[in-house]
Amino acid sequence: MYFVQKLKISHLFQSGDIFIPIPLFWQYNLPMFGKIIQSGSEAVLSFLYPRLCLSCGDGLSLKNEVLCIGCLYKIPKTDYHLHFDNPVTERLMGRFHFQTAAACYLFTKGGHTQSLIHALKYEGKKEIATGIGENYGKKLMASDFYRNIDCIVPVPMHRSKERIRGFNQAEVFAKGLSVSMNKPIFTSALKKIRKTGSQTARNRFGRLENVSEVYKAGKNAGQLEHKHILLVDDVLTTGATLEACAIELAAIEGLQISIATIALAAY
Ligand SMILES: [Zn+2]
Repeated sequence: MYFVQKLKISHLFQSGDIFIPIPLFWQYNLPMFGKIIQSGSEAVLSFLYPRLCLSCGDGLSLKNEVLCIGCLYKIPKTDYHLHFDNPVTERLMGRFHFQTAAACYLFTKGGHTQSLIHALKYEGKKEIATGIGENYGKKLMASDFYRNIDCIVPVPMHRSKERIRGFNQAEVFAKGLSVSMNKPIFTSALKKIRKTGSQTARNRFGRLENVSEVYKAGKNAGQLEHKHILLVDDVLTTGATLEACAIELAAIEGLQISIATIALAAY
């Protein structure tokens, strides 16, 4: 038996007909083998360190990053981008000039959107904002209100806070939007020149006072003349931050502003 096998093996390596297809097979199938090894190791890792849904605590499948399929289905989405009259435009109306405004999700205390925003801001899961941005960008491009946007301007974060967090979540959201909308991001249009305390404990007027003279137009803001910009942020509560940014940009000639945020919160 040993002898026969040895003969066969030696035949494999000596015969051009059989020997040549082996490296070709490996060459064409290496990515496939790589995937098998990768998915196998992912399965082992998820067995040893199960990843849990941020909202309900159930185990996540390999495809789901932060929320399970059930919670993704239940997250309260809006269709505000399809209608000018919506709760976001209602909240901002009369405070500064804008074309239209929308938010992707509704933010409720203890709800799925809060879990997402918390994981994004405090657990460093940037992929949440990128994913939402890419998905929302496709919806915005299918809406007549947003199709003629020229560029995306994220609400800036103070440099020292961005250094601590490692990223500005509004900018990461803008990057996702930029990919699916195929529009450039303009990060130097605005800068945050003064740190603000937490906005969450303030009422609407307190928040506006807190952010006034905090945002300044950047030295390249002139490049936005006669452009229609999409000003973006993570969560819209009172709208004081967006109002302060829009008022600062209002001096730019021919500028049109539309608004998009990840979520709209009650206040
Ligand atoms: Zn879940």
